[in-house]
Amino acid sequence: MDLAYAPLARVQTLLRRRELSAVELTQAVLDRILALDNEIKAYLTVAPEWALEQAEEADRRRASGNDSSPLLGIPLAIKDLICVEGVPNTCGSRMLENYIPPFSATVIEKLRAAGAVILGKTNTDEFAMGSSTENSAFFATRNPWDLNRVPGGSSGGSAAAVAAGMAFGALGSDTGGSVRQPAAMCGVVGVKPSYGRVSRWGLVAFASSLDQIGPLARTVTDAAILLGVIAGHDPRDSTSVDTPVPDYPSFLTGEVRGLRVGVPQEYFGEGIQPEVEAAVREAIGTLAGLGAEIVEVSLPHTDAALPVYYLIAPSEASANLARYEGLRYGLSLEGPDLWQTYRRTRGQGFGAEVKRRIMLGTYALSAGYYDAYYLKAGKVRTLIRRDFDQALARCDVLVAPTTPTTAFRLGEKVDDPLQMYLADLFTLALSLAGLCGVSVPCGFDQNGLPIGLQIMGRAFDEATVLRMAHAYEQATEWHLQHPPLRANG
Ligand code: GLN
Repeated sequence: MDLAYAPLARVQTLLRRRELSAVELTQAVLDRILALDNEIKAYLTVAPEWALEQAEEADRRRASGNDSSPLLGIPLAIKDLICVEGVPNTCGSRMLENYIPPFSATVIEKLRAAGAVILGKTNTDEFAMGSSTENSAFFATRNPWDLNRVPGGSSGGSAAAVAAGMAFGALGSDTGGSVRQPAAMCGVVGVKPSYGRVSRWGLVAFASSLDQIGPLARTVTDAAILLGVIAGHDPRDSTSVDTPVPDYPSFLTGEVRGLRVGVPQEYFGEGIQPEVEAAVREAIGTLAGLGAEIVEVSLPHTDAALPVYYLIAPSEASANLARYEGLRYGLSLEGPDLWQTYRRTRGQGFGAEVKRRIMLGTYALSAGYYDAYYLKAGKVRTLIRRDFDQALARCDVLVAPTTPTTAFRLGEKVDDPLQMYLADLFTLALSLAGLCGVSVPCGFDQNGLPIGLQIMGRAFDEATVLRMAHAYEQATEWHLQHPPLRANG
């Protein structure tokens, strides 16, 4: 199917001219999943019959003349942390292996109202804790660019599905980098919206002061379309903010002359793969060539982001995951008494990384340590936010690498949690600050693995971040390259 990598606008044109039906399109993507996903393993669940029903519905809607939605008939993939009514939602965990949600997340309701076709649920690190998708209780997903490497994580299944043409876009969730980081490693676009931009109702909670749902797509325009559909206030999520949602695609003018681009010096130093630094520096040159003004800035508390994140996120996770006790839903391994039921259920239901986080978080929140760890981390978090506010008072956006390295080998970091945590070194601070960012492809290393450019912006200023990313994308050809898969021919 030469359509596999087509941008949404082109697919919509074909659908509108009746040169293609949503059913044909959906069937073609399902065939491609059948041909490729045995190896890539991006999906945990594919729902072919339901997908075709949704496609038929989209075709009927188009026939009735109600066809203005840019997502009408477009097949999408959803991270298995976002509830879709009637479809298993495992969160990559044995704990929820048999959980079928009786409701859909707000973002899913919005996608369905826009006429999108939901193909299935994608693999994730267990409860989104990880950077490689290897912490999934079921299997690891492989990077379409090199099947011996990880796709990044935790939204690795969504990133791999989009990169391999097994979906026209996807949703992931980003707590400390889980949309941007896999997007960078799979050579696609990933958007982390500002905290409060997108409703999390129906997203299984990991760390509630950080979690955001964000789109993954093959072009900035496609990502902007998806964001426009899922964004907005939701009375069911009190952290979602009641502020207007701009028409994102209309900001993608290609014009960035006079915009100020800050380059935070702390993001270029030790631990960064030289090819990643070179590609990002070249991208900054490209932005300068487009007329953007480049300025050096400093985010002095950058070093604190990793320790602060690994206190706050596990603390919140330890509270959020207390609900999996074997009584209400999910796995239940009953013991002779309540205590034994808890022990068995949680002992067998959670994997090693989730247990590690629960222990770290419980410790950081316990009496006598709360002030020294959790409270202090919160204070340093304010300093991190202040760094960004100061830099973004002088600049329209900041640019940096999305990840310190390109995709690493499967198994390379599984036994070394600290090494795994370092994969998010460049994405954590922005999440702690609650601001928005995007990763856009900006080159390849010598092994042909994608490199991501991270563009970060002010709270609720996704429009400027997307505008910059789009101008860069249009000035380069990275987004036109696709992984060497046998079904490409
Ligand atoms: N890799 C980070 C973690 O393990 C971020 C995960 C995420 O954003 N969900 O916590």
